[in-house]
Amino acid sequence: MNESVSHPVISVEEVVRPTRLEIDLKTLAANYNNIKRHVAPAKMMPVLKANAYGHGIVRIAQLMEKLCADCIGVAVLEEGILLREEGIKTPILVLGGIWGNQIPLFFKHDLTITASSIEKLNQIDEIAAQMKVKAKVHLKIDTGMERIGVHYYNAEKFLEASLKCSNIEIEGVYSHFANSDDTDLTFSFLQLERFQEALKFFEKHSLKMPVRHISKSGSILQMPVANLDMVRPGILLYGVYPSSESRRSINVTPASTWKSLVVYFKVIKADHPVGYGLSWKSDHDVRAVTVPVGYGDGYFRSMSNKAEVLIRGKRYPVIGRISMDQIVVNIENDSAYNGDEVILFGSDGGNKITVEELADWAGTIPYEILTNINTRVPRVYTEQCF
Ligand SMILES: *Cc1c(COP(=O)(O)O)cnc(C)c1O
Repeated sequence: MNESVSHPVISVEEVVRPTRLEIDLKTLAANYNNIKRHVAPAKMMPVLKANAYGHGIVRIAQLMEKLCADCIGVAVLEEGILLREEGIKTPILVLGGIWGNQIPLFFKHDLTITASSIEKLNQIDEIAAQMKVKAKVHLKIDTGMERIGVHYYNAEKFLEASLKCSNIEIEGVYSHFANSDDTDLTFSFLQLERFQEALKFFEKHSLKMPVRHISKSGSILQMPVANLDMVRPGILLYGVYPSSESRRSINVTPASTWKSLVVYFKVIKADHPVGYGLSWKSDHDVRAVTVPVGYGDGYFRSMSNKAEVLIRGKRYPVIGRISMDQIVVNIENDSAYNGDEVILFGSDGGNKITVEELADWAGTIPYEILTNINTRVPRVYTEQCF
């Protein structure tokens, strides 16, 4: 072997997989500002759980910090710790339930805790005393979701108990809607009423009112009366509406485009089935391309023989079963070449495929489509001004 011949080492970044999620930070910032304008003077707690709904939690948190978000919402402790380790200084509320042995880590990383029972309050208070810190806590009241929190009809005892915890600062008190993206808002208004009733405790005892919050995307769009002191927008921030029923009273634009490239072209002969299970075949020859994306990336297998993609701005059907890493697209008589761009969702020229369409094909909701695009798909940020 000739040792003088050497191949330049190319970094992974330089040969990023063609299957990628492109995120436009400028669009995301515009969505944030539109929501903020709409809910003002309420504060903003953008929700960045589940890798910021697939958009990349660290970059999105950096953007939110630049936009002066009042607080960042995450679901689990680890998401909060990651953001602190990446240098995020904005207050962070962990929305999920906690285990006792996690409490010291909240203090170590200056994270705000959700207290959802008297027992947890006392645990937090005790450990805060031992560690000589003042715990930052939001109290969770369950007004009808039946997930975590103290039931509204037991709220008084809970709030009373919180006053006895001298090592805890009650910064906020909150609840969560069960179906605020529905057309029928009867139950949501009932939940709001239960919440307001529980909050009277603070007035009754002439106490300073903590930051009150209950609203997420659906209610931000449909129930401005629920904005209170702060709102918690999740999916709307990323430019996707929470349901097809909810009113679209705020303009947002999808911030991400899922794309790939054509890697292979061929003609499939009549009566030659395609893919695992031989689930699709044609009675005539068709031209087809293969695209390197599959259910191993979060392109749901349940969309087999239903999904469509855009190539050169035109819609084409995915044929046969979606494999773990590849799909086949029928372009009939058209032409496409290796390296042509394939849009899985997003816009191309005048045409677009939405996250909602993928959700319909997969029999799920847009939230699940976004949060299932996994780590094998590189996130690429197209707007560098942040
Ligand atoms: C996920 C979540 C939100 C955001 O919900 P969207 O419908 O995405 O706006 C708000 N609050 C809590 C407690 C959540 O878990």
